[in-house]
Amino acid sequence: MNDTTIGWNLQSSFASLPKTLYAPMEANTVASPRLLIANKPLAAELGLDPGQLDSTEALNVFAGNQFPEGSFPLAQAYAGHQFGQFTMLGDGRAILIGEQKTPAGELFDIQLKGSGTTPFSRSGDGRAALGPMLREYLISESMHALGIPSSRSLAVAATGEKIQRYSAEPGAILTRVASSHIRVGTFQFAAKYRSAEDLKALADYTIERHFPDITGPNRYIELFRQTAQRQASLIAKWQLAGFVHGVMNTDNMAISGETIDYGPCAFLDRYDESAVFSSIDAGGRYAYRNQPLVGGWNLARFAESLFPLLSDIPEKQALSSMQDALEEYVSLQKQWYLTGMREKLGLFTEMPEDEQLIESLLELMQEQQADFTNTFRSLTFEAVEEPALANDPAFAAWHDRWKARQQQEGRSEQEILELMKSKNPAVIPRNHRVEAALEAAAQGDYEVLEKLLDILRDPYAHSEEQQPFTAPPPPSTPPYQTYCGT
Ligand code: AMP
Ligand code: MG
Repeated sequence: MNDTTIGWNLQSSFASLPKTLYAPMEANTVASPRLLIANKPLAAELGLDPGQLDSTEALNVFAGNQFPEGSFPLAQAYAGHQFGQFTMLGDGRAILIGEQKTPAGELFDIQLKGSGTTPFSRSGDGRAALGPMLREYLISESMHALGIPSSRSLAVAATGEKIQRYSAEPGAILTRVASSHIRVGTFQFAAKYRSAEDLKALADYTIERHFPDITGPNRYIELFRQTAQRQASLIAKWQLAGFVHGVMNTDNMAISGETIDYGPCAFLDRYDESAVFSSIDAGGRYAYRNQPLVGGWNLARFAESLFPLLSDIPEKQALSSMQDALEEYVSLQKQWYLTGMREKLGLFTEMPEDEQLIESLLELMQEQQADFTNTFRSLTFEAVEEPALANDPAFAAWHDRWKARQQQEGRSEQEILELMKSKNPAVIPRNHRVEAALEAAAQGDYEVLEKLLDILRDPYAHSEEQQPFTAPPPPSTPPYQTYCGT
């Protein structure tokens, strides 16, 4: 039913799953909510009236004070391997208010993050601080603009309440939007703590929602295979953009293939294959170069949690089918990464020596601490210079090799330029720019943030206006560090 001014058209299909998979929630009101930022283009895609985003009706929803018609607020149960350790988790500071049916007929979860305690909060306060919610808004929207599947951000509302972190900080609630929030950890929870019927209900629901074409007797193996394919594609895109998720626990891997749970993530400035930004990842488990491997590890946990559903297939056969799908993940991930790298280098076809060509470039970038994004920009436009490589004779030799490889294809300069422009972004959410925007916002100035969002909305434009935002951090900038549990 749609009887609101803003245009909510919510259903709650997740609530029709066994009640053992979630906890129903009540409103957790905050005293003096205020809208800080809202996403008009996303609102329009969702079938909401962008002109009503700043209404009291919308604010009451974004603040968790009032649920619209059709909603069934709930906290989802899930478990997960956190840095390799299995733990019971669940939405400890988020509630799903329902799924918005868009004019195009698609369903999107509408979730409030930072909206107060739930039965899964453990010792947490269920709240979120303003800075990290704005950061998630900025980075998730930038990911989407870069063409990387991601949850989206509809609004951030201040709660008017202080929360305790390292110091007292203003509280905020992020309204985030995703194809769903079903995670590998949702399956791990059902497999470990619930009945086979509950697990089956979850798997059938997931297939219907995300993989409606899957039918037939091997449907759960196919669910695994297609989930693995989406992760292969997603993680290849992360690698190609220099994105480090930072906390690839199994509870942070969405079955839909979208990037979710922005916490200690960051983009590479200078290239470093072992880059880790998270303060707690001292061992480098989730370092840039490990992401494809960890993706496979997480998928193996997903496969294990699906095994109770494969009892009608001989065990050996079930095992080898899952193994095949996992191997397919490894090879597709690599193939899609290499294809993406070729495109970044303006190459249209595949040659056996390409992998070596790509590896050599990355080695030079690592050695010279070259900026990841700007190296590819400088290759795209000979006019742009990446200073770290400019005077390196080894790079000059590599450059000749690359040009010779390009010439084998017989493409025009224009064709090559167009391909490279469309694959190498001019701008990414650089850490120092993000921090500057958050600092200004903390002082009540949202112009810096709005400007940055605007610049990041079309990252492949290579416009004059984007130029100042392409600069890496000043050399004096200390190493960037990010934090969990903010
Ligand atoms: P994350 O690191 O954001 O993926 O969160 C890991 C787990 O901790 C999830 O179960 C979250 O719901 C929970 N969590 C994180 N922050 C809080 C908080 N402030 N209060 C309650 N639970 C939280
Ligand atoms: Mg999480």
